[in-house]
Amino acid sequence: MVTSWPPNFPGHGVSAIRLARRLGELTGGRLDIEVFAANELVPALEVLDAVSRGAIQLGHSAPIYWRGQIPAAQLFGSVPFGMTPDAFNAWLFHGGGLELWREAYAGHDIIPFPAGNTGPQMGGWFNREINSLADLKGLKMRIPGLGGEVMRRAGVLTVNLPLAEIFTALQTGAIDATEWVGPYNDMAIGLHQAARYYYYPGWQEPSGALELLVSKPAYETLSAELQYAVETACIAENSYLLAEFNTRNHDALKTLTEEHQVELRRFPDDVLEALQRYSLEILDELAASDPMAARVYASYRSFSAKIEPWLRISLPSNVPSGNAR
Ligand code: CA
Repeated sequence: MVTSWPPNFPGHGVSAIRLARRLGELTGGRLDIEVFAANELVPALEVLDAVSRGAIQLGHSAPIYWRGQIPAAQLFGSVPFGMTPDAFNAWLFHGGGLELWREAYAGHDIIPFPAGNTGPQMGGWFNREINSLADLKGLKMRIPGLGGEVMRRAGVLTVNLPLAEIFTALQTGAIDATEWVGPYNDMAIGLHQAARYYYYPGWQEPSGALELLVSKPAYETLSAELQYAVETACIAENSYLLAEFNTRNHDALKTLTEEHQVELRRFPDDVLEALQRYSLEILDELAASDPMAARVYASYRSFSAKIEPWLRISLPSNVPSGNAR
């Protein structure tokens, strides 16, 4: 299994190792999986290609990285102002999303399995306050993916930097802002030491799906029993990791605000409204540019609209008592 994560990377990387171990234990050792961090066998962003060539049987990564190879993949990763993990998983498992995900990757001889989720991310770290849309103009920010395209439309100069360069770029002022993941991952790389304001919500990634990429020819050599083990272990890890992120993000946010005096800020409503407008434009453009993306987006959007009334009724009552919103 090649992965897109540094060795023992908190959350994502540890999840890949746990998934491999889970598969070994579940199958009495018949699936014996060796996990490689990014760059040990292949670079982080070549995981899909390596599995597609059949040189490697398994890859652990995130769909947001494959916009070049599979434009529709971005819609399985993170959709700006899109569904949260509850609704996203409902779409995958009960709304036809997973079938479309597999169809989108079929040309690469890969069967994708949802294998984890970061939960809602944070909007990012800023060295100046964002009080209006004008404050975004000319800002230099590390933000990849569809969220980055949205920010570009708002006048932000966006860059994508690898993990190893983010902290220094922010600390030296080479960039004014960055998003990364959430409190747990962000604190682990010290972003609170490089910027003062921590913005929410993470409109760009309300859900951050991770995937296990399985080489189709390799999968077809497995017995039905072992195939079922792969599917079941991924379903287990999908919910286990989300639970872990929710717990650790809460703990880290408390540490950030209480011990490191990080200043939490909410993006102003008019800024969020503008970013949402740009997001819808960009998603329409993505759908118009690629037939598979059009089908995925149509399914995503109609499921999202279908489930929204239920979420509106059910979610506030599901917040544990004592935690007023
Ligand atoms: Ca992110």
